[in-house]
Amino acid sequence: MVSVTVQNLEKVFPPNVYALRDVNVTIKDGEFLVVLGPSGSGKTTFIRCIAGLETPTKGRILFGDAPVIDVERGINIPPAKRNVGMVFQNWALYPHMKVFDNIAFPLKIKKLPKSEIERRVKEVAEALEISNLLDRYPRQLSGGQQQRVAIARALVKEPQVLLMDEPFSNLDARLRISAREFVKSLQRRLKITTILVTHDQHDAYALADRLMVINNGVVQQISTTDEVLNNPANIFVAQFFGDPPINILEGEGRGDHVDLGDLKIPIPAPQGKLQVGIRPTDIYIADQPLSPEDLELKPGRVLLVEYLGFTPVAVVKWERIEVRAVMYNKLKEGSLARVFLKKEGVKLFQNG
Ligand code: ADP
Ligand code: MG
Repeated sequence: MVSVTVQNLEKVFPPNVYALRDVNVTIKDGEFLVVLGPSGSGKTTFIRCIAGLETPTKGRILFGDAPVIDVERGINIPPAKRNVGMVFQNWALYPHMKVFDNIAFPLKIKKLPKSEIERRVKEVAEALEISNLLDRYPRQLSGGQQQRVAIARALVKEPQVLLMDEPFSNLDARLRISAREFVKSLQRRLKITTILVTHDQHDAYALADRLMVINNGVVQQISTTDEVLNNPANIFVAQFFGDPPINILEGEGRGDHVDLGDLKIPIPAPQGKLQVGIRPTDIYIADQPLSPEDLELKPGRVLLVEYLGFTPVAVVKWERIEVRAVMYNKLKEGSLARVFLKKEGVKLFQNG
């Protein structure tokens, strides 16, 4: 199919809302990129610029070697000629059209012959397992089924690029999981270059080949999900991606160790004030270390046991600091606990 290259992309909405600032990324042919960021971070603007529904104020976007927009050179290929499929957040199905006609719509616009339209709609409906729904109206479908129809409509044109804007946000938790699995396996099967934007870190973790984290229109990090988890570029990324949420503590670097309130952690650290990130999975309560390399800290008091997802997580307190730590035993609240640390999981951030 095609790669997508975004260079120096900027979008300013009048008078001066910087929705995107100098975004640079290349999505490889057949790759699944997830764009993750909080509400208002510029995600929708980003994919609308790729689709051609929004005109950037600076920069360029290429499909393969061919620019679809180049602001400086005055090139701007209209949306209909970009050959992208787009799935909108609210799916935007036509309520007065049956499923067949909803899916056929982009082909009718292209004035394809009726027999060709019929063949392609049936083909895509089969791939999405909605062949039995073609005679229904959208209101007669469940959320998950409506979403499949929206995806079918995006795919029926055989686009070079598939763009999805928060496609799971209208689905309940259980359907969301099966819809994610479905989208991922479909993308693998069709090998279509795909960009999906979401504010939901679980969507991102489940789907991404690579992840682009964005905040306030500025790209924070582009990498594999594991790399973003293990080596977050900054505190924002560390806090935005990871479940259970990371502990962030004030520390003081001392060359060969970090002072962390009551604790002393023997890892190399630059001198001076630091912010220290430790994921609850890297600091844990257990009767024995999980691995002989793990460091035992001073015993801490279990203040509270909570369940984040289905994982028991303890709030542990020493004299001056408290952290959330995954719990591998059944200690009661109030007990003194053995606490272990995976030193390699400790993340140090200077100047926020
Ligand atoms: P997201 O999809 O991540 O929630 P958006 O791309 O929709 O973010 O918006 C990014 C920023 O641009 C926000 O501050 C939003 O208010 C602003 N914005 C989006 N569309 C417009 C518009 N048409 N006019 C003015 N500001 C807009
Ligand atoms: Mg949006």
